[in-house]
Amino acid sequence: MNIETIELIFNIMVYVFVFLFGITIGSFLNVCIYRLPKGESLTANNSHCMTCGTEIKRYDLIPVLSWLILRGKCRACGAKITPRYMLIEALTGILFVLCYFFYPYTSNGIYFAMLALFISGLIVLAFQDLDTQEMCVSVLIYTGLIAAATHVLTLFDSSTGDPLLTMPADLKSCLIGMVSVSGALLLIGFVITPLIYSGFISQDHKDLRRLTRAYKAADDEKTRRKLDKKITAVKKAIRENGPVFGFGMGDIVVMAAGGLMLGWKATVTAVVFAIITGAVFGIIKRAVTDDEDASNAFAFGPFLILGLVIGAYTGGSIVDSYLNYMFGGM
Ligand SMILES: [Zn+2]
Repeated sequence: MNIETIELIFNIMVYVFVFLFGITIGSFLNVCIYRLPKGESLTANNSHCMTCGTEIKRYDLIPVLSWLILRGKCRACGAKITPRYMLIEALTGILFVLCYFFYPYTSNGIYFAMLALFISGLIVLAFQDLDTQEMCVSVLIYTGLIAAATHVLTLFDSSTGDPLLTMPADLKSCLIGMVSVSGALLLIGFVITPLIYSGFISQDHKDLRRLTRAYKAADDEKTRRKLDKKITAVKKAIRENGPVFGFGMGDIVVMAAGGLMLGWKATVTAVVFAIITGAVFGIIKRAVTDDEDASNAFAFGPFLILGLVIGAYTGGSIVDSYLNYMFGGM
């Protein structure tokens, strides 16, 4: 065997290992997505079938493989098991492989590992947001801490004397990234829009405030119930007529953490991607749902997070080629 063949086999083995490690982490991420919003323990290890309640045996908990072997059915009762868990495991494996593909050890040190830890947090946040339209504070803090820790690690050398890791974006770009998009979202979502809308335009918001005050002041049960009904009606009117606040505090924090980890070009890529795909999704959603009561709002977080993941792998190249196209001359 010549040296190239050995190298090739070694590389394939590394990728296989990274994938297997990724799907194992993905299995833990499923637990986080499912249990964290309910405040349940992450370590109590007893997964049950959702239909018959039978405890799932250790050997049936192998990421991805178990679902395929059992053909998506519970071993005890034969009830269908959603492919979602398996898909999240596979997704994590693939994203881990991409971390190593775009930032191999030979060029960026252990950056791929920190990026994988960061993206793990993003996966949890995206699916939590999809399920509950909220992101867990603990996971938001986790992503911020991983981003900060990655910057700290750039100060250390590995045993060979090379830096332990090098980040694709420099510190300045990351600090700008941390405040630019998140600052803009903060300003638009929580200052400008509410000011214009609830302060000057919407009668509904004024009604809601008046009713809420009356509700708090009311002391008998009958008045309260009557007011509660009115409040529900006004809230429904706001939902239907109001501007859709596409994002919340979680989105702003995740964009700040994303900027600190990936630099401003990646966050700009993410927000442009999210606005375009989110708008397309919103139009399609409106067209296909005929439920009159359905809210126009949907979780914007998964779009931002998918944009961040794209930004993570492409670095600044999308923004660079755009700037080059616009201002780069002939
Ligand atoms: Zn079962």
